[in-house]
Amino acid sequence: MEREEQLSRLWSDIVGEMKRLDGGDSFGIDNYIGPLSLKEDDGTTLVLTYPENTLVDWVELNYQDRILFAATKVLKGARTLRFEPRVAAPGGATTETTVELHGPVEDAAGAPAPRPQRKAAAPRKKALVSGLNATQTFDNFVCGGSNDFAVAAAKACAARLEERPYNPLFIYGGPGLGKTHLLYAIGNAILAANEKAKVLYLTSEVFANDYIEAIANGSRAVTEFRRKYRKVDVLLIDDVQFLSRGPRTQEEFFHTFNALFESGKQIVLTADCPASEITNLEPRLSSRFQQGLTVSVHTPDLEMRTAILRKVCKEWKSEFITDEVINFLARSITRSVRQLVGACVRLVTFTAFSRRCLTVAEARQYIADIVREEKGSKVTVADIQQMIANEFNMRLAELTGPRRTAAVVQPRQLAMYLARKHTASSLQEIGAAFGGRSHATVLNAARKVEANLARDPKLAELVKKLSAELA
Ligand code: ADP
Ligand code: MG
Repeated sequence: MEREEQLSRLWSDIVGEMKRLDGGDSFGIDNYIGPLSLKEDDGTTLVLTYPENTLVDWVELNYQDRILFAATKVLKGARTLRFEPRVAAPGGATTETTVELHGPVEDAAGAPAPRPQRKAAAPRKKALVSGLNATQTFDNFVCGGSNDFAVAAAKACAARLEERPYNPLFIYGGPGLGKTHLLYAIGNAILAANEKAKVLYLTSEVFANDYIEAIANGSRAVTEFRRKYRKVDVLLIDDVQFLSRGPRTQEEFFHTFNALFESGKQIVLTADCPASEITNLEPRLSSRFQQGLTVSVHTPDLEMRTAILRKVCKEWKSEFITDEVINFLARSITRSVRQLVGACVRLVTFTAFSRRCLTVAEARQYIADIVREEKGSKVTVADIQQMIANEFNMRLAELTGPRRTAAVVQPRQLAMYLARKHTASSLQEIGAAFGGRSHATVLNAARKVEANLARDPKLAELVKKLSAELA
């Protein structure tokens, strides 16, 4: 009983941490994470159970990283995840049927929920050590004009590890465009060729937390920390833009980077912008990041989006997604592959229950929230500028003008943040609408507001109000 209580408390801490990290936006977490519970934590794996009819595949696809990240923070250690259905046995007792998250699929006739038919590239044990998601490989990554250079570079790094053709390889691009997938693919390819390779994947936030934790625990812990990171053959660090949050972490990362680089180890980094544009990143780190090869991933065109959708349907062995629905999805969701895949998986899951094809109208209804978010419900940058000008009692020309006093900078940054959130305009387009500012300025403004939201309840309240007006 006591153990159950412990687990339940632990789970609510993890969910709380997820909400905090999400900036207080708890809708998705309440809906998708709420129904789960924590059944076990053995120090390496968290076992989550879910009730019947939960869209667990959706949860896995969209929340796995966030659950793991929050769990790492709360537990101060890395875990992997396993989902198990909570099955009501005859007589009311509850039995558990284990379903391996990425394991082989039992295709019982008429079984409602499909499982993705992804081959696990490496046994789970290896994934545990390396932090890799074994299901994301080069095989299931669709290559096209928006990413072919990045894919070629990533494949070369993995295939010619000894030569280290590009070190470091720096991959940048907007959210949901496949950066993490590429990192996993590199790691999985290296492990497939040599299962003894020491491959370590982690986000820069995990690195930072691990380091802060080590400092708190004294010099032996710091030595241990250094040993752990410097003994790897391949270091895959995701989302390095977050390194800029702590100067001490940057310092430590600089030394880790140098130690690995000098002993000829491969380093691959990702970020949401080029290294030179990461705010508050020390110049020496930024220049290290640029001394290898920098590649980018962009939003895919219609043809590629269609190819990605077909690949998803094939992987999930779905027979119920028609060409019309694929077409509709490919045309409606253009900005993020994550959203595209997420929408498709949702339809695949729904149709697996009903076992019939959807009309386009039905499909539209099921994914209305994703499309709405995508389209920013047709709010324009000009709408937002007008709204902010009214709110702060200032003239539009001030908002877009050159002055940089706090009184105009703050509303301007807020307007950029809202434009990023509520319109489909690109960073460049938003920058242009604010008197020809650069896309990096917009990105930094949006990040700054986001960071302030967490500590400034008045700002959070205002953003909530304005967002509601825009919706
Ligand atoms: P990022 O790290 O850039 O935010 P991810 O790598 O997490 O994006 O990708 C988001 C989702 O989209 C993942 O499920 C990933 O497998 C999928 N994805 C992205 N790009 C592609 C692609 N080119 N082919 C197939 N799947 C993709
Ligand atoms: Mg990512």
